[in-house]
Amino acid sequence: MPKAKAKIEKGNISVHTENILPIIKKWLYSDRDIFLRELVSNAHDAIAKLQHLTLTREFEGERDYKITVKLDTEKKTLTISDNGIGMTADEVKKYINQVAFSGAEEFAKKYEGGDQKSQLIGHFGLGFYSAFMVADKVEIVTLSYKESSEAVKWSSTGTTEFEISTTEKAEGGTDIILHLTEDSSDFNSEYQIRETLKKYCSFIPVPITFNDAQVNEQKPIWVSSPTSLKDQDYLDFYKYLFPFSDEPLFWIHINIDFPINLSGILYFPKLKHQFDSSQKHIKLYCNKVYVSDNCQDLIPEFLTVLQGVIDAPDIPLNVSRSFLQNDPNVRKLAEHIQKKVADKLKELHKKDRAKFEQNWEEINPFVKFGAISNDKFYEQAKDFLIFKSTEDYYTTIEDYLERNKEKHEKKIFYISDEIAQSSYLELFKKEGLEAIFLNSVIDSHFIQHLEMKHAGVQFQRIDSDVSEHLVDKDKTEIVDAKTNKTASQTIEEVFKKNLTLEGLTVKVESLKSEELAGMIVLSEQMRRLKEMSAMYQQGNNGMDLMKEHTLVVNANSKVAKLIKTKAEILPEGEDVKMLCEHIYDLAMLSQGLLENTKMPIFVERSTKILGMVK
Ligand code: ADP
Ligand code: MG
Repeated sequence: MPKAKAKIEKGNISVHTENILPIIKKWLYSDRDIFLRELVSNAHDAIAKLQHLTLTREFEGERDYKITVKLDTEKKTLTISDNGIGMTADEVKKYINQVAFSGAEEFAKKYEGGDQKSQLIGHFGLGFYSAFMVADKVEIVTLSYKESSEAVKWSSTGTTEFEISTTEKAEGGTDIILHLTEDSSDFNSEYQIRETLKKYCSFIPVPITFNDAQVNEQKPIWVSSPTSLKDQDYLDFYKYLFPFSDEPLFWIHINIDFPINLSGILYFPKLKHQFDSSQKHIKLYCNKVYVSDNCQDLIPEFLTVLQGVIDAPDIPLNVSRSFLQNDPNVRKLAEHIQKKVADKLKELHKKDRAKFEQNWEEINPFVKFGAISNDKFYEQAKDFLIFKSTEDYYTTIEDYLERNKEKHEKKIFYISDEIAQSSYLELFKKEGLEAIFLNSVIDSHFIQHLEMKHAGVQFQRIDSDVSEHLVDKDKTEIVDAKTNKTASQTIEEVFKKNLTLEGLTVKVESLKSEELAGMIVLSEQMRRLKEMSAMYQQGNNGMDLMKEHTLVVNANSKVAKLIKTKAEILPEGEDVKMLCEHIYDLAMLSQGLLENTKMPIFVERSTKILGMVK
């Protein structure tokens, strides 16, 4: 049986334009100040159009192009004037009445009833109508550039009704006059208007004066070619954008038009080892007009610590955020920015190693954060992910492993605190062992990430366990005929007897160095576990963590030998206990783990020991 033919009915969806203003107000309320951006953009466009007609010789006059904004606080009127292309009566009817209203209809259809918050308007041809967010009456006085045109005056109170008549106007161009509403008294303020102009229009490439002072003197240098700019230009621009910041470390000038149109300058600020990615440091522009500093969807999170401007003319910036997230262009843009940042770092690492290393201390947390949170960036960053070595140079993981594979294959020793771990560092250096510094906030996470990326490679802090390389394995211990014990066994017994602290294990090793008497160690795994649990447990002061710990006594040290001799003569002697306790306290102290409450006893004991010097 043939299908019944579907019945098609055609018609117009009717949207009541009377409803437009409440909708505009509702959707845009949080960003009311954008009306000024829209009107100044229109003024700029009008001038740009006339400039274009000059090029094609359709317009042969000469004008000193400018946009003028005037506020009359008494009359509560704000006037935005340009000396651009102007409009004839027909054009006003066409562009203002028809186009704008059809744009408004489209907007209404799209969003009425929806629950998503639209951030901004614009492409709907609604820009002009945003004036009604702050004005209950808007007038246009305009004179077209066309010869023998008559000036036109249009006015509307924001309904579908409007009035249009001929009028007098001396100069070609357009004045938009807003009669501010009672609830828009905040815009009846010189300060407010100037700040709003600065916020949105600082880089519009036509001079804008407000009450006779120019508001846009800084050039949008990101649109210039990088070769035409000097370092000082970039620094001046940075100062303009972020007047209270220190000088940036370096910057990246993005300037591409294929496969997407994208320009901007991103500065690496001095991070001072901490960063807050919720801060808004990147300003987003669309053709030099400020749009937002809310770029979360446009750039990867880890890049939000950078400061600067991004200009993306092709992105539909004016629609809602959820729409942005699904836009393939937006994702492409994010990838491009990220790649440019990686490229710049790669280039700097290659061409100016000294500068790169100099800045590395500042930027490494950022690069590591990026590498952890974004696999693509990790791949791009692999070559310039460097680590400061105890050998006083910077190394990559690969180079470190290669250099040390004879001594300790697939094991990377690291230091997280140069002062607390200084005695271990000494030992390491003496033994010709190499460790790398991993001391930024993000490193404990980063270590895990690296272990995941380098199968079989293990990171070990230099104070965790005693490296087999530090123990003198060649030394054979003689068993004492009288006691039937080795020296180490005797020392261990003495320490165990005299140090009975909860969670403490005593271990005796013959270290290659004679200087160090004892040190505290915590196994790498144990320490990581404890660090993790400390992160989730509040009020843990770190001391708790140390309950399980090991004192390694160096049987090779002079003090250990002295203790052994003394204990053999007088096992219960006061001196023996005192020395054991002191070695333990010193080991704790050098790791920054000696509690303050123990300090008086420590000092008292130290004084006693000093008194024993002959
Ligand atoms: P859009 O700028 O997205 O086209 P608008 O609502 O802002 O939408 O403006 C509608 C149209 O009105 C513009 O495209 C332009 O043709 C005309 N127009 C607005 N302001 C001016 C102006 N100052 N001078 C000349 N034409 C203007
Ligand atoms: Mg517009």
